[in-house]
Amino acid sequence: MADTVLELRGVEAGYGRTTVLRGVDLTVRPGSVVALLGANGAGKTTLLRTATGLLPAARGRVLVGGRDRTGAPAHRRARDGLCHIPEGRGIFRSLTVRDNLRMQVPPWATDSSVEVALAAFPVLRERLGQTAGTLSGGQQQMLALARAHLARPRIVLLDEVSMGLAPAVVDQIFHSLKALAVSGVALLLVEQYVQRALDIADRVVLLDRGQVTFDGPTGDLDQNALLRGYLGT
Ligand code: ATP
Repeated sequence: MADTVLELRGVEAGYGRTTVLRGVDLTVRPGSVVALLGANGAGKTTLLRTATGLLPAARGRVLVGGRDRTGAPAHRRARDGLCHIPEGRGIFRSLTVRDNLRMQVPPWATDSSVEVALAAFPVLRERLGQTAGTLSGGQQQMLALARAHLARPRIVLLDEVSMGLAPAVVDQIFHSLKALAVSGVALLLVEQYVQRALDIADRVVLLDRGQVTFDGPTGDLDQNALLRGYLGT
């Protein structure tokens, strides 16, 4: 097994003539939880999109599971075990909860996979026949996580999963994320609630105007560096 699930090496990316990521190096090891922090506009979402393959890297390399996937489409990277839960959740709003889950079961897996996912997210069991778009925000996020669970990924990239949700719901979601991590799935987490992210992360990467200014164990994060990263000074 490769000793990294995701690696960015000297990645530059942006939109049109605007360069957002400026030579980003980042490594996620199997089963580790990495919090990606930084001020608004630092390039966190851009980094996740480049890792997923939704945005091409203008320079540098992206490796998934130790294999060079620079330029490979998102669905290829998904087959390599990379799962992305974008802001806005990426569920099929017009389909039922049941169909959202069923379509995520890989062909080689058994139907009982859905049962396992429902055991982890019991709130979905009562709503199997409901259209996903009519679920509450928190329930939609649970569905997105249950779908990620079913895809049997090696790494999940999460962008602001707690956005717009009540604190109690955010607690449940972080509980589920922790369970996902304990089961051996690596997480790369962009999160507005810094402390919640730090609580479950073992490493932190701090992004400041498209450059990594800190990369290390959570315990080594200097509060001043964190503050500087957020204030962009
Ligand atoms: P936030 O915490 O506010 O979500 P972020 O760190 O995720 O910020 P990005 O969304 O990656 O930051 O944005 C980085 C920069 O790229 C910003 O200056 C933003 O305006 C710009 N940008 C983002 N998306 C686009 C786009 N589709 N076209 C042009 N510029 C964009």
